[in-house]
Amino acid sequence: MQFLGSQRQILTPDVIPTLSLYRSAPPLEVRLDDFELFAIDRLRVLKGISDGLSRGKKPEEMEKLVPELWRANMRHPDASELFNKDIISHFVLRLVYCRTEDLRKWFLSMETTLFRNRFRAESPGAQRALMTEFNLPYKALSNAEFENLKDKLSQAARSIGQPLPTADAIFFKVPFEEVPDLVAGRRVFMLKGYAYVAMNQVVSLVVTRFRSLLSKALVLTNRKWTSTIREQEKDRLTPIVEALSTMYLGPDYSQPKEFAEVSIKDIDQVANSSFPLCMRHLFEKLREDHHLKHGGRMQLGLFLKGVGLKLDDALAFWKAEFSQKVGAERFDKEYAYSIRHNYGKEGKRTDYTPYSCQKIIASTPGVGDHHGCPYRHFSEENLRAALGKMGVGGRTMEDVMDKVRNRHYQLACTLTFESIHAASCDTGINHPNQYFTESQKILQAKNHSMT
Ligand code: SF4
Repeated sequence: MQFLGSQRQILTPDVIPTLSLYRSAPPLEVRLDDFELFAIDRLRVLKGISDGLSRGKKPEEMEKLVPELWRANMRHPDASELFNKDIISHFVLRLVYCRTEDLRKWFLSMETTLFRNRFRAESPGAQRALMTEFNLPYKALSNAEFENLKDKLSQAARSIGQPLPTADAIFFKVPFEEVPDLVAGRRVFMLKGYAYVAMNQVVSLVVTRFRSLLSKALVLTNRKWTSTIREQEKDRLTPIVEALSTMYLGPDYSQPKEFAEVSIKDIDQVANSSFPLCMRHLFEKLREDHHLKHGGRMQLGLFLKGVGLKLDDALAFWKAEFSQKVGAERFDKEYAYSIRHNYGKEGKRTDYTPYSCQKIIASTPGVGDHHGCPYRHFSEENLRAALGKMGVGGRTMEDVMDKVRNRHYQLACTLTFESIHAASCDTGINHPNQYFTESQKILQAKNHSMT
């Protein structure tokens, strides 16, 4: 694939920023593999930022987290390719995240946070170069203007704990609406509709400009995507682009690893101690109704395979329940096939992968279905009752409900996990099988320390 357009202007080496403004796609040939792999790496950075923000991390904590995420994911074996990887991955994700209002909002917010943190890390010279490249039309205050306002600027600096401006300090006079975060935080001196922005605050100016350009660019990309690219690329890029926005980026749970086996005799006990709410609910409904519809059988069946229930045990387990409702013969005829199928023993013999939280949360259970994510799909009353049964209450219950109201379902699940295990889960819950594995680790460690 070819990215077209012009690259950055020539700059002297001491002020070359490592950060791109992504004004236009560069003229680069990109291999299809890199197209996808670079995008996945950037997505890991953006997802990490999103988790950090929704866990309520403070700006100083984000300042630490963002470079860590960047270093961990945006490496390249050839250091000279780093800049290209940055640009290519950004433009691929523009395609991925231009397609709906919600996707655009998320991408805009994560890319802006990433940009803000990377801009801050640039040298003052590189920051000035980026401002010029953005054509920010602000002139620094002249000496005479600075002398006139010096006392007021000093007062403002003192009130926000900033160093007092010296004679060589640089300030920009800008319309106040262009630095909304500085104005809202009362961190800038204002006079007659203008804000006087110190050099160490210019990040606010640049970020506002970055956000507004990216927002417009996403709308334009969406138009191009719907009018031409989607159809033109239907056999090549379109399937990759469509899969990327819902891609699960965590470990593979298709084969049980650390806790290799769960047998039928242990299953009730581990369900009670280590199943996340989505699986607990399916498990209880199966025991109660001796039946689950297709969506529920897939969600629970693949999860059980991932926690180490062997095929023979799985057949015996499902048969014991279903035969109470439909009879053993009908179970063998109609249902056993799909269980063997999940284990790759029928049909295309694909080994099917347990569902991630993202996939479960995005599902749309109908009437009589019990699959899905309770944090997303239960009514508030039912969710409170289910959490109460797991032992969640008091302040934690309100914190969980607060996350649910803000549509942070995985964080609600993480808080539940942390509360019932009395342990923290820093990575957050991304997969029901990860919930199970983390839970078993904690419980086994507790058992060992007691023996
Ligand atoms: S967040 Fe994930 S693990 Fe937790 S209940 Fe929802 S789907 Fe299950």
